[in-house]
Amino acid sequence: MTSSAILTDEKEPLLQPWQFFLLGGMLAATATVIVATGQSPANIIILSLTVVSVSFVGLGAYRMLSPLVSDQPEAPVTIGGRTRVALEREKSLVMRSIKELEFDFAMGKIARADFDEMSARLRSRALGLMKQLDAGGGYRDQIAEEVKKRLEGDGDATIRLKPDATGVCESCETQNEPDAKFCKSCGAKL
Ligand SMILES: [Zn+2]
Repeated sequence: MTSSAILTDEKEPLLQPWQFFLLGGMLAATATVIVATGQSPANIIILSLTVVSVSFVGLGAYRMLSPLVSDQPEAPVTIGGRTRVALEREKSLVMRSIKELEFDFAMGKIARADFDEMSARLRSRALGLMKQLDAGGGYRDQIAEEVKKRLEGDGDATIRLKPDATGVCESCETQNEPDAKFCKSCGAKL
């Protein structure tokens, strides 16, 4: 019942790239036939086949290059070789299975021993998936924390906003000559 929701959350573009290339190829083939009228039928067929195959080559090139240039969310976040989306989907499937299992057990459809075994297996799988998902997010948090720590600085790494003020009197804060020994305002030793 919720499977349709899973299927519809990916927005499809109006025209798929392969449809675009096929359409382009067919239009080009038609144009070729129109242009090439007067030639022998064999020539026309060969010409249009050439045009169609060129459009397939174009599609191949598109497939190869599009991952390099697209910044769409389709470029999946991978956690240990698997996509985050796949992990989340599997997790929700496992959770649903647990609920169904509990429902079946409550209805008396399965024996206690079977329920215990299956339930334990599903729960440990769900836990494993959650850990994997957390680990994926954990890295990002760790990096963010590390960056924050370095920016704030804990001692040596601190960027000093005030330049080393030489010649400033500690008691009256008067700016003296950099090589002055005593403050010109209050006479304190610098
Ligand atoms: Zn002074």
